[in-house]
Amino acid sequence: MSTINTHKRTKIVATVGPATDDPALLVQMMNAGLSVVRLNASHGTRADLKRRLDLVRAAAAKANEVVGVLLDLSGPKIRIESFVHGSVKLVEGAVFVLDTAMDSKAGTIDGVGIAYKNLPNDVAAGDTLLLNDGQIILDVTKVEGTRIHTLVKVGGELSDRKGLNRQGGGISAPALSDKDREDIKFAADEKVDYLAVSFARDAADIKLARRLMRQAGGDARIVAKIERHEAITNLDAIIDASDVVMVARGDLGVEMGYAELTSLQKTIIHHTRSKHKVVITATQMMESMIHNPMPTRAEVSDVANAVMDGTDAVMLSAESATGRYPLKAVEAMAQVIQGAEKYQYGAARLRQREAGTVFEGTEEAIAMAVMYTANHMNVRAIVALTESGATTLWMSRLRTDIPIYAFTRNESTGRRVTLYRGVFPVMFDVAGDVSVAALYNAIFARLLELDLVSQDDLVIVTKGELSGVQGGTNSMQILKVNLS
Ligand code: PGA
Ligand code: MN
Repeated sequence: MSTINTHKRTKIVATVGPATDDPALLVQMMNAGLSVVRLNASHGTRADLKRRLDLVRAAAAKANEVVGVLLDLSGPKIRIESFVHGSVKLVEGAVFVLDTAMDSKAGTIDGVGIAYKNLPNDVAAGDTLLLNDGQIILDVTKVEGTRIHTLVKVGGELSDRKGLNRQGGGISAPALSDKDREDIKFAADEKVDYLAVSFARDAADIKLARRLMRQAGGDARIVAKIERHEAITNLDAIIDASDVVMVARGDLGVEMGYAELTSLQKTIIHHTRSKHKVVITATQMMESMIHNPMPTRAEVSDVANAVMDGTDAVMLSAESATGRYPLKAVEAMAQVIQGAEKYQYGAARLRQREAGTVFEGTEEAIAMAVMYTANHMNVRAIVALTESGATTLWMSRLRTDIPIYAFTRNESTGRRVTLYRGVFPVMFDVAGDVSVAALYNAIFARLLELDLVSQDDLVIVTKGELSGVQGGTNSMQILKVNLS
């Protein structure tokens, strides 16, 4: 029986949490179109992360799905400390003090502690500080030693450990905290597929994360979360340094102001794809489904527009991690993706390289030749025999309406390509030194077994002459499915 759903090409990333601590539910979510699971290191202990990772892996085996895992580092999110009574209600016009010397549990209506000792050096009178994703706004009136005096501009309920941003960015905390470094070791030991760097400022932050990952013996691909003012300034260099970019609209909307968010999303997606990298669009995509079984029309439109912008994946955060309807959120997202792709592909066109540019290598050349051919022949499927998945990434940067099957014997490659739009992993290994005829027969058999093609369909197969060599793809064949 086929367990590969090719009805939608754009992938779904869903955050796991208390609401998904149920093996049967995870299996259902995977069968409904969940491709990559996000573990959020900002919440819970490392033991919680490990427990959830094991649950996810067991569920993927049970569901008979290849599922990627992304570990999202906490990063230097600045947070307030705690209140004596859990929360306070700030009213407009009141004075409120943020104090790095205050006891961590001594917060009151007059002020609260801050763990990040450098904050008084990073802010000045006239600055605007945003708490709880911008729901509470404070105007800084003066900074005195460890105390930042503010006036409440927009009030509301403020509870323990809420996040704090400075409008316009500029908070100098480095992107990788000591906790993040420990979490990177955990990610390497557990062989997660993707590592997300929160609040990255520049390419150096990404390179450092990659170096630490390699030093710890891990091979995870690096995701840069674009959620700081500085990251927009350094966007091109950050994309070049990373494998994947996340449009992290929550914090980005706070730092940049939400009005620019949609244009930024489109710009980031376009830049990332044109640099042959992968992009995830995240945060509040199905926000109302935290409480409701149905998305709003605005949310439907938001997911569809991200798909039409060309994103590889759309992401669920609290909707799946702590919401009431995690399965329904995945199902709704899958339906909206399919609806959006249906209309978009009428106009699918092969993006050409500018005249005079030179391909980066053989794999790009093969990918371009495959897609050009597919454009002019009625090809049902593209099969890439791949060690690293690189060829399938090149192909999916060009167009994604014809399914691209990454035939691989490497489980980690299979999990990696789950994030690429239009690419589907198929575990495949031919033992020994088989003849070319036997190899094609095995490919046809696997495609037919999974119900992905019919007898006599045209398929394109790419492979390396010397199979088993990374980066070795150097040939393509056009074949008619004919199981002998
Ligand atoms: P977060 O990142 O969920 O870890 O805050 C995403 C975002 O800021 O949008
Ligand atoms: Mn964030």
